[in-house]
Amino acid sequence: MKGDRNVGGLLCSEVLAQLSDYIDGALDDAALAKVQAHVAGCDVCERFGGSVGASVAALKRQRAAHAEDRSIDSALARLRAALPDERSQ
Ligand SMILES: [Zn+2]
Repeated sequence: MKGDRNVGGLLCSEVLAQLSDYIDGALDDAALAKVQAHVAGCDVCERFGGSVGASVAALKRQRAAHAEDRSIDSALARLRAALPDERSQ
């Protein structure tokens, strides 16, 4: 990645690769501390990390909403299947 910088023992590309887990809170303490140290010391990531983080969070919310839609759809489909079809009678 162009402009990749090693800050706090992590490259910018490695921070990006872990950004999703970072937002999910899925990183362990050591990895979390490294990402935070990098972002704190790297003006590239500090500048765009916030907006990237916000975009990823928005995407995750959208995906969660879609997953919810699908579960509602499948619940409706099961309900329709369970009900007698009035048109066929
Ligand atoms: Zn960086």
